[in-house]
Amino acid sequence: MVGRVALVGDAAGTVTKSSGEGIYFAAKSARMCAETIVEFSQKGDRIPTEADLKVYLKRWDRQYGMTYKVLDILQTVFYRSDATREAFVEMCADMDVQKLTFDSYLYKTVVPANPLTQLKITAKTIGSLLRGSALVP
Ligand SMILES: Cc1cc2nc3c(=O)[nH]c(=O)nc-3n(C[C@H](O)[C@H](O)[C@H](O)COP(=O)(O)OP(=O)(O)OC[C@H]3O[C@@H](n4cnc5c(N)ncnc54)[C@H](O)[C@@H]3O)c2cc1C
Repeated sequence: MVGRVALVGDAAGTVTKSSGEGIYFAAKSARMCAETIVEFSQKGDRIPTEADLKVYLKRWDRQYGMTYKVLDILQTVFYRSDATREAFVEMCADMDVQKLTFDSYLYKTVVPANPLTQLKITAKTIGSLLRGSALVP
């Protein structure tokens, strides 16, 4: 956000870590920004202020903040070395991981698994990391 300029898409850094998905988020951020401008311009009677435009960013963070956080963590953990990337590939063979990933891609949100499945995925993830010696500094 510079003065009264509201950034969207790649210019606003909406492309996701880990998956590199940016087309949906570019379009969605543009739409959310435009809707905020329309809302605060009161049918064209007033020019939205910088504070008004920041509302779009707050809404963005509320809707997608957790998704960005999780993908950031995934990238930090798994994109560190060849060993961690191999562990990531091994983990992705798991059906529960595939379902979780598919749902999250489809709904553009972190879809929670039931606690037992989550525990299983966590154990398998740690197993993959240990097998690939991915945790060795
Ligand atoms: C190799 C690669 C593969 C990708 N694969 C995927 C994928 O499979 N799925 C996915 O969802 N995302 C993918 N992405 C990310 C996705 O392409 C971007 O996140 C998305 O295109 C961002 O859209 P945007 O409109 O914000 O920016 P852009 O698509 O970059 O559009 C910006 C436009 O503005 C123009 N421009 C720049 N400066 C000026 C100026 N001063 N005046 C006028 N025009 C200007 C540029 O020429 C450009 O056409 C990929 C990106 C790369 C690089």
